[in-house]
Amino acid sequence: MSLIVQKFGGTSVADAGRLRGAARRAVAAHRAGHQVVVVVSARGKKTDELVSLAEEITDSPSAREMDMLLSTGEQESVALMAMAVAAEGAEAISMTGAQIGIHTDSSHTQARIIDISTRRMRETLQAGRIVIAAGFQGIDDDRNITTLGRGGSDTTATALAAVLQADECQIFTDVDGVLSTDPRIVESARLLRRISYDEMLELASLGAGVMHSRSIEFAKKYRVPVRVRPAASESDGTLITVVPEDSDSGARLITGVALVRDEVRIGLVGVPDRPGVMGEVFRRLAEESLPVDMIVQNVGQHGLAEVSFTVPEQNRDEALVAAAAAVADLGDGEVDHGQNLSKVSAVGRGMRSHTGVAAHMFQTLGDVGVNLNMISTSEIKISVLVDRERCEDAVAAVHNGFDLHEEETEGLGVGVELPVADRRAELSEREELEQDVVDRLASMEDIVVSEVQLDDEQSRITVRGIPNTAGVAAALFSAVAEGGIMVDMIVQNDSRGGGGGGGHASLSFTVPRRDLDAALLLVRAVADGWGGVEISFDRDVALLSVVGIGLRSHTGVGERMFGALAVAGINIQMINTSEIRISVAVGLEDGASGHKCLAEAFGV
Ligand code: ADP
Ligand code: ASP
Ligand code: MG
Repeated sequence: MSLIVQKFGGTSVADAGRLRGAARRAVAAHRAGHQVVVVVSARGKKTDELVSLAEEITDSPSAREMDMLLSTGEQESVALMAMAVAAEGAEAISMTGAQIGIHTDSSHTQARIIDISTRRMRETLQAGRIVIAAGFQGIDDDRNITTLGRGGSDTTATALAAVLQADECQIFTDVDGVLSTDPRIVESARLLRRISYDEMLELASLGAGVMHSRSIEFAKKYRVPVRVRPAASESDGTLITVVPEDSDSGARLITGVALVRDEVRIGLVGVPDRPGVMGEVFRRLAEESLPVDMIVQNVGQHGLAEVSFTVPEQNRDEALVAAAAAVADLGDGEVDHGQNLSKVSAVGRGMRSHTGVAAHMFQTLGDVGVNLNMISTSEIKISVLVDRERCEDAVAAVHNGFDLHEEETEGLGVGVELPVADRRAELSEREELEQDVVDRLASMEDIVVSEVQLDDEQSRITVRGIPNTAGVAAALFSAVAEGGIMVDMIVQNDSRGGGGGGGHASLSFTVPRRDLDAALLLVRAVADGWGGVEISFDRDVALLSVVGIGLRSHTGVGERMFGALAVAGINIQMINTSEIRISVAVGLEDGASGHKCLAEAFGV
């Protein structure tokens, strides 16, 4: 018998009418012969209201009591939903996270799921009843109520779907599905019919609020087909699923654009350039449980290095503490920070196999006069830090620049929907490795690192002292792209970047070694026009990558990776991070030993 999980978000159960509509959907699925588990969020703005109640009492409520309070929103919803289902003539039982047995760790307000008992849900389903599960909550070893973080009901839904091996997890929400960007920013945002787990994981982690990013980690790890659908109509929405890698070249260059409105940039300036700098930074950030958003290290000069990273503005104070501690430990340097910044990211698996995607993105931003304060690229994403007052223009420019409002044409990854068994058979070699690791996890949300890769055929080019104004990166990378050269890793750092432009930036990127000389000629031709620019290169560079799932949001991965490289005495030239890969550029002579030490550190 097939099993379906249906999750209803806050708006979709906000009043009696909508709640009844949701109940009717669940009952219809049940009558159609499916076993049905319904996951419900708190109604409407309930969770925000509860947060306000706490704020009326104190500025610093205990995290445990916040969880006790916030979990009541979902408890109200499940009881009402069970009544609504009963009123539609089906049998239902509501359950809290504790009653189901959603066992989490004890990190209140951000708890991670360890395991989930299926016994009570199975018994209820087998008795022909619908299970109504409270989203967003669990219980720790000491029976404290925990919550999974804002937006966490999505994660409850995909986690239940994973342990119950559901045929589909349906996420009902207030938009038509996953769109090419947030429709509140760009009205012409278009519905995506199908998207790969990796793209959705990056988009969610980079700010696309439609799904909690940890829910996509579950979906990817446990191969849960997820469908994001509108609660208000019958349309099919978006299927999040395995998309074969060999179809990348036919994919759109960019699938979606995401925005994090409130970012701060923290800079460590004038720190000693020696192995261990990044290890120290990541260790201190992990101590504060902070995942870094973008992180950039400039290639050292005069024995000094410069590291910049961004975090959401709400984490500014902890990040400054972490940065100060790192500087103190390194023995030299200063901390500065830049505010009123936003992060705009473009995500698309098509960029794996096409040149010029970054150049085109920078061009569209340059054309509307948006200055790039920082750049960081990874396999399937490009992020730029822009002045906050221009952030919506930037999202719109990138969206329009890649024609994302246009209907997908045949063959661009729309695809036919495959039965579940086939979807599971569609795994690439990398995904097979991943499944192996997932099968052995002690705790459901543990880090998954499936592979460490070495690419020893790269060179690095660094351009220092470039004018920090709109259009500069565009000119540079357009020239390189016109030469048909694949640029792999790009980092740009604006040393005194607090927004507002001015000053100078420095930019590093890697190209295949065979293309180095051609790339240098192209770069010189452009950069010579700017005056005072200094170009340097390292012909022999290696890229080391740790590949897995949820790497950026698990603070421990960076700590372990950079700690291991520091112990091995390996100096890092460049770095980029994403949910599916963290890569560093190191000297070619350190490639093989770095590969070995990382493989040992992650036990792969
Ligand atoms: P729910 O309460 O159902 O969980 P959320 O408010 O958490 O709903 O998520 C839905 C909202 O996410 C939409 O109203 C939309 O404004 C926003 N959003 C941001 N990025 C996207 C995107 N790429 N596609 C669809 N919606 C998006
Ligand atoms: N009610 C919680 C929140 O508002 C969880 C959720 O809706 O997903 O964050
Ligand atoms: Mg949500």
